[in-house]
Amino acid sequence: MSVIDEVKQRIDIAEVVSQYASLTKAGRTFKALCPLHSEKHPSFFVYPEQQSWHCFGACNTGGDIFAFVMKKESIDFGEALRLLAQRAGVTIPSRFEPGAEGKEKERLYQVNEAATQYFHNLLVNAPSGEKARNYVASRDLSPKTVAEFQLGYSLNSWDALKQYLIERGYTEGELQTAGLVIQTEEGKTYDRFRNQLMFPISDIRGRIIGFGARVLDDSLPKYLNSPQTPVFDKSSSLYGINLATAAVRQQNTAVIVEGYTDTITAHQNSFNNVVASMGTSVTEKQVSTLKRLTKNVVLALDADVAGEEAMLRSVGYENILGAEVKVIILPRGKDPDDVIKEDKQNWQRLMEEALPVVDYVFNMVTAKLDLKTARDKSLAVDKLLPIVAEIKDTVRQAHYLQKLARLVKLSERSLDAALGKIKASQSRRQIKEPKPEAITRALRPILSSPLEEYCLALLLQHPELKDKSEGLLPEYFESSQNREIFIAWQQANDLSSLKDKLDAALHEELDALINKSLPANQIELKYADCVLRLREKFLQNLEAKKAEVLASAAEAGGTAAELAKLEEQGIEVSAGLREVFAQKARRGQEQRR
Ligand SMILES: [Zn+2]
Repeated sequence: MSVIDEVKQRIDIAEVVSQYASLTKAGRTFKALCPLHSEKHPSFFVYPEQQSWHCFGACNTGGDIFAFVMKKESIDFGEALRLLAQRAGVTIPSRFEPGAEGKEKERLYQVNEAATQYFHNLLVNAPSGEKARNYVASRDLSPKTVAEFQLGYSLNSWDALKQYLIERGYTEGELQTAGLVIQTEEGKTYDRFRNQLMFPISDIRGRIIGFGARVLDDSLPKYLNSPQTPVFDKSSSLYGINLATAAVRQQNTAVIVEGYTDTITAHQNSFNNVVASMGTSVTEKQVSTLKRLTKNVVLALDADVAGEEAMLRSVGYENILGAEVKVIILPRGKDPDDVIKEDKQNWQRLMEEALPVVDYVFNMVTAKLDLKTARDKSLAVDKLLPIVAEIKDTVRQAHYLQKLARLVKLSERSLDAALGKIKASQSRRQIKEPKPEAITRALRPILSSPLEEYCLALLLQHPELKDKSEGLLPEYFESSQNREIFIAWQQANDLSSLKDKLDAALHEELDALINKSLPANQIELKYADCVLRLREKFLQNLEAKKAEVLASAAEAGGTAAELAKLEEQGIEVSAGLREVFAQKARRGQEQRR
């Protein structure tokens, strides 16, 4: 099975889409306001059975999970594959990485460095950087800090960076791989970052791996990141790590905050051991990165989310570090940036008062309980004992077992027996379920599409068909990998340039198609047939999708306008289908003659 199929099998489209749109169940489908265009009435639908989506509104398009992520994140197929593979826990074999992997990465560091200098110069010197300079000044960031963090400004232009870098010898392809430009459906590219304050993100060795960007007005999203690239993986990167390394080693402690400006303000105030998780919740990979520098990690968490976050993950982090994780709880509604600016001493004090995370969880759980009652005692044990069971360090585990026993006034021995049971079931779970996600996510059947593949094989093996390919549209290919190959074929002049255009993960499928055995005669006729059948399948599929939508809309007593709009679109499709039937009939007559 290919990596692509494996990803498709493990990922549920509704689950992924629900990160971008709020889905409501409508019959066998889900509907939502389209996350790809702005609208007032939902015309975006997800079909779990087919693992596909369709927007009947302005987008008027659809596809599989890859097509969705590519559109939504403005990334290419390879980037989407890597993103989804990571989510699904599928490893992309290294043979899918380009051969000269090291060289490619080196070029990406270089192009990122060049972009960093370009942005930085604009922020510091350009007249057009005025607004960004004002923003920086309003956040009290000193010129020294701006230089240290190499902050920058991206012009309000579609191609300023692109032109600059191309003049310096970088290719459009390299810019695209680096995530600095976005490619349109027509194959044109434009600058990803425009009119934003730029935060270059470095790895621990100080190489620029990607960018964070903040808008300078009230538009949303406020922050934007580079996409996943061969050198940038947000979930394992920590903002400021290159500048924090020395201090982390020296103080033997690292503090993780959430935001870019939290880190910058901390450093400006000489709290140099601070790094940021960049808006996401802290990940195991980030903790592993820090482990190379220190075992002592302090999380500076937002009071609102701190509880759950700490509860869910921190013991896991402790096990990675082989040490205690501490938590500081920020005053409600304030982030580290505010706290430090108000009074440096406050930050110092919060650090000194940082609690071991398990103690914090104990406080949080017991605060809501009345431990004199039997019911609440049992609740406390139910919630806390599994956390104690997770602690690998036996001394610390014993410590917290004692603490719990004292709290609920039970003998340690009775708790110890319960602990033993939990541990046994945890280890059984570990043996039986090496990959919990793989179990809970039922494996989906792979919807293969022999017709699509047959058609592609014809095109690839018979260059003379290129002139006859009008009327064949990318949307007719439901599976993204076939769609990708078709689009690359449209753009390429020969097989080798076609291969260059394709992500390495698609090379195996391409080779299989090129070597597929095909009938030797009547190629043109067979091809025309194939196109017609693909078109028919596409339209029928659309019709079926619409029927499902109509049924669910009627069931739910959908608004008349909504129904009318859908009906209207339905009529167009029916017209398309009628045309296909007419063409088929004509062809039948011709063949009989
Ligand atoms: Zn749409």
